Amino acid sequence: PGKKVLIVFAHQEPKSFNGSLLKIAVEELTKQGCSVTVSDLYAMEFEPRATRNDIVGGLHNSETFNYGVETWEAYKRGGLSKDLVEEQKKVQEADLLIFQFPLFWFNMPAILKGWMDRVLVQGFAYDLSKAYDGGLLQDKLSLFSFTTGGSQEMYSKEGIGGDIRYVLWPMQHGVMHFCGVKVLEPHICYAPENVSEGKRKEMLTAWTQRLKTLWKEEPIDCSPEWYFK
Ligand code: FAD
Ligand code: ZN
Repeated sequence: PGKKVLIVFAHQEPKSFNGSLLKIAVEELTKQGCSVTVSDLYAMEFEPRATRNDIVGGLHNSETFNYGVETWEAYKRGGLSKDLVEEQKKVQEADLLIFQFPLFWFNMPAILKGWMDRVLVQGFAYDLSKAYDGGLLQDKLSLFSFTTGGSQEMYSKEGIGGDIRYVLWPMQHGVMHFCGVKVLEPHICYAPENVSEGKRKEMLTAWTQRLKTLWKEEPIDCSPEWYFK
């Protein structure tokens, strides 16, 4: 109770399976007494492109544009665009970040990748020699909750897609761990389009159940071995 949760939601349709997973998380966590904020990226028409529009006022170097340098400098002088400042405030306040999305090309949808690219700027999320366990977003948890088109068998080590943990490496280790955020076990609903209505209900119930004891969970050991052992 009293914990703050930010859910970053990347699906166009509230009636989708992802939309149902979002609704469950909002309801269950609110019921627990958490304060829940949702960034519904498509509804917000969130800008995924990393451009000079993200910097308000003059550039540090107006001759040659370097996005990383410019956003870092802009962050330090309070010159990032309003949409970024708002998202950073939500991240700063959150104890837990939940990312809810359908798997697109073995990765997150572009709109969510754009959120990572633009919100987690140097100076805010990490800094020179402040990365991984030293990242700036300490004492926060993250959880990647996503759906797939492929089945669980396809995403096994011997399956055609390989272990699902391989796709989690860039997201969990490359982004969250890099920024100092601890990582909870991912929550994966395989192939909701291709299973029975009964199985879909079962997957939704499993999510509700997991959320009930979420705050008792220990983060994973987010090291190469977890992904590629
Ligand atoms: P939906 O189609 O919204 O939901 C499935 C079914 O559940 C629907 O019939 C819906 O009505 C029903 N439903 C919704 N709510 C409830 C409820 N409360 N109770 C019961 N039923 C409910 N897949 C991969 O595995 N790997 C990839 O690399 C990959 N790349 C992709 C790239 C692109 C560009 C696209 C568009 C898709 C890709 N996919 C891939 C497939 C994608 O991951 C799946 O289509 C997606 O995860 C399905 O989730 P959804 O929420 O959109 O499902
Ligand atoms: Zn890691």
